[in-house]
Amino acid sequence: MEGAMNFRQFLLFAGCLLWSIVATADWYTNEQAIMGTVIRTELWSDDPLTAGEAIRLVNEEMHRIDRLMSTYKPDSEISRVNRDAAEKPVRISAELLDLLARGIEMSRLSGGAFDITYASIGQLYDYRAGVRPDEQQIAAALPAIDYRFVELDLDECTVFFSRHGVRIDLGGIAKGYAVERGVGILRAQGIEHGLISAGGDSRILGDRRGAPWIVGVRDPRNSDRVIARLPLIDEAISTSGDYERFFEEDGVRYHHIISPATGHSVSEVRSVTIIGPDATMTDGLATSVFVMGLEDGLRLIDSLDDFEAVIVDRHGALHRSGGFLPPQQ
Ligand code: AMP
Ligand code: MG
Repeated sequence: MEGAMNFRQFLLFAGCLLWSIVATADWYTNEQAIMGTVIRTELWSDDPLTAGEAIRLVNEEMHRIDRLMSTYKPDSEISRVNRDAAEKPVRISAELLDLLARGIEMSRLSGGAFDITYASIGQLYDYRAGVRPDEQQIAAALPAIDYRFVELDLDECTVFFSRHGVRIDLGGIAKGYAVERGVGILRAQGIEHGLISAGGDSRILGDRRGAPWIVGVRDPRNSDRVIARLPLIDEAISTSGDYERFFEEDGVRYHHIISPATGHSVSEVRSVTIIGPDATMTDGLATSVFVMGLEDGLRLIDSLDDFEAVIVDRHGALHRSGGFLPPQQ
């Protein structure tokens, strides 16, 4: 019959069609330096335009969150709060209000180990330049660390610091929040398999097409060595480590996680990895457990249904929370 395909033509056509699908359905990856870290987006899509647009939107969202929460940017919303909130209540966006509320919630959950006012002392460090406060400066600023000085008015959408000298910083949950938002964007773009990471915080969407994603936990003292491999589907994973931002002086490691009780870097453990359903939570819990130390930290994680932990203690030994499947070595 004229116009109809014979079998050979059909095979050729089907082959071309298959080739074009195979040629474009693929994993797409992108890395950008944003929020003082590397944002990595990895996704599966059958259309390069959809993939490109999804990646663009994710990176745009990361820049937006950075403009909101960076204490390094003098015109960010949080910098404005730090400048004015001890003088009068400062009106803030619903998004920042919600994040401050989540930070305060994490303080309550961790018995004060997590505290966004750590920045009252944290601001005196410059890890790249090797600058740290001396004991006198720490003693003078320590009384300003207490999350209860941060007063939120949920109706008026304002924040007020009930003490002078209070500074806040959302660095302990911001990256988790950002990757959680990023995965929301992927989902809205119809993506079903992907991963977004911001430094030590990752959010996984779906599986890796028929297999779990395998996320490695690195040796805190050797970046080339993986000490546990965790198979994950649709989960968040955050690691807090004493190797992320630090300098050493006279054999002492000064790093970026500060005990609200002492004002010094915490040296109870070397790294904490938390797995759970929400990256803002895993991020906050990783920082919290790092401050709480091995015993108290594991007790907290074991009291929470959906979260598990892998901790490398100060001697380098590996510990796991109760509900964990044995990690794959
Ligand atoms: P992470 O990057 O999640 O490991 O958390 C470390 C970051 O959290 C630091 O760079 C600080 O911005 C912030 N941070 C440090 N100490 C504390 C603390 N005790 N409570 C809340 N945030 C903290
Ligand atoms: Mg954290």
